[in-house]
Amino acid sequence: MSPLWSFPGGIHPPMHKEESTRSPIVKLPLPERLILPLHQHIGAPSTPDVNLGDQVLKGQRIAHADGYVSVALHAPTSGTITDIGEYPIPHPSGLSDLCIILSPDGQEKWISRETKDDYLFMDASHLRNRVRDAGIVGLGGAGFPAFIKLNPGPRNVIETLIINGIECEPYISCDDMLMRERTANIVSGVKIIAHAVQARQSIIAIEDNKPEAYQAMLEATANEPDLSVVQCPTIYPQGSEKQLIYVVTGKEVPSDGLPLNVGVVVHNVGTAAAIYSAIAKAEPLISRIVTVTGDAIRKPQNLEVLIGTPIRSLLDFCDAQTQIDQLIMGGPMMGFTIHTPLASVLKTTNCILATTYNSLPEKNMEMPCIRCGACADACPIKLLPQQLYWYARAKDFEKIQDYNLFDCIECGCCAYVCPSNIPLVHYYRYAKTEIWSKEREQQKADIARQRHDFRAERLAKEKAEKAARHKRKRNELKEKSDPSKKETLIKNGAKSKKKAAILEAMERVQAKKEAHKTEPKNTVNLTEEQQRKIDQINKKRETRKNNED
Ligand code: SF4
Ligand code: SF4
Repeated sequence: MSPLWSFPGGIHPPMHKEESTRSPIVKLPLPERLILPLHQHIGAPSTPDVNLGDQVLKGQRIAHADGYVSVALHAPTSGTITDIGEYPIPHPSGLSDLCIILSPDGQEKWISRETKDDYLFMDASHLRNRVRDAGIVGLGGAGFPAFIKLNPGPRNVIETLIINGIECEPYISCDDMLMRERTANIVSGVKIIAHAVQARQSIIAIEDNKPEAYQAMLEATANEPDLSVVQCPTIYPQGSEKQLIYVVTGKEVPSDGLPLNVGVVVHNVGTAAAIYSAIAKAEPLISRIVTVTGDAIRKPQNLEVLIGTPIRSLLDFCDAQTQIDQLIMGGPMMGFTIHTPLASVLKTTNCILATTYNSLPEKNMEMPCIRCGACADACPIKLLPQQLYWYARAKDFEKIQDYNLFDCIECGCCAYVCPSNIPLVHYYRYAKTEIWSKEREQQKADIARQRHDFRAERLAKEKAEKAARHKRKRNELKEKSDPSKKETLIKNGAKSKKKAAILEAMERVQAKKEAHKTEPKNTVNLTEEQQRKIDQINKKRETRKNNED
């Protein structure tokens, strides 16, 4: 076995995993309705393919990926679409989002599927497309579309595929149970991923607090020469991608780089199993394993749950107490509080943690920083958490970025060890949100300025063109009224013969007018008397004119 490295910092919080690993995974019965948010992944939300009242089959696509970083959504069971509208979603904001509501018909009738067992001979791009069409995202919690990580690009050689079975966050045990019970699916999934990215070796990494899972994976991979299993000492946050890569390979992913840059791809064990189901059995991602635990749960366990199942159904099935003081999606370190159990299980939901105040760490008052440096010692990224804290408080968002705020993975180690009970991660999240919002404002202002400049340029251009047109017309009119120019026009080929023809026609009209010109009839053939009167009138006119002058 190759040696393991250890990253700086990290902590050893109480794990509380035994509570939910005493019984096997249980399939949760069909709920009365499924609430399926269109945005369950990183990237653009999917776009509905169904309408109100549509009958759908299990596994049928009900929303398609919208853009490259996006995935499809599928009906977790057969039934009727009863609504498409805003419903509460599990999100720290407590806001609602667009969801498709499906009422199950209880038939569980599958869409027709084409199963494949020759997947290891499939073209890599074909595999990626199938994974994308199956709506698979990283099941470790991040929700990044899995097909993107199956495409390292022609210039990247993947030396090592790491399968993340670390599950270092307290309370969560869904990956542990999956490795114990669905070992073969995971191994097949790993082989498919390794084939797609052309990895030279694959390593499944498991912490040493999961001996059953480790043993099961060891046995399942005994005859796989390119696939090994490593047992890593338990420490939080070892499951974080960059930390795990360092532990397994000794390679450091640069601050603004990707695992690809050091020839590594990381997928979660759950994602590997889902990829196997999508490729070999043509089953899209419609269910997942969720740990339901915490001191407010009387029967903590792992459930196989359809995506979209209301959290209330999980709590009821696990006999939750009436008194729940905090409901968290994820673990206590990196999870977030959910505001209503009416929200549903997402593709990324690995744990529902229901606690009472008895089990929560005592909430002592926040006190001033004593510059003890404990937070810096615990930080796995080698950041300076107290400096980040000072600059966040001072709203010095330029300086805080100089201290690599965006390298912070929000693991919470610093806050966990802080003797002054400073909720450090809250300050970092606040600073990140402010910076993002300022950047968005700046982007908007830049776009508005660009639009203004473009408009001004367009107007100036139009004005110049108009002036040029007027000048040209004026010149043409001048030329028309100058008979000497006519010759020139004709001689020069007359900008156009047409213009010369027009001039000639105008002249002909003028000549005709001249020819028909006649003297007024009352001034010819006058009598002497008439002529005398006219002469008198003319004389008078002349005299008046002279007087006026
Ligand atoms: S651990 Fe807390 S008190 Fe100590 S330096 Fe860090 S922020 Fe300050
Ligand atoms: S939350 Fe950020 S600053 Fe604190 S220990 Fe984790 S990575 Fe370091």
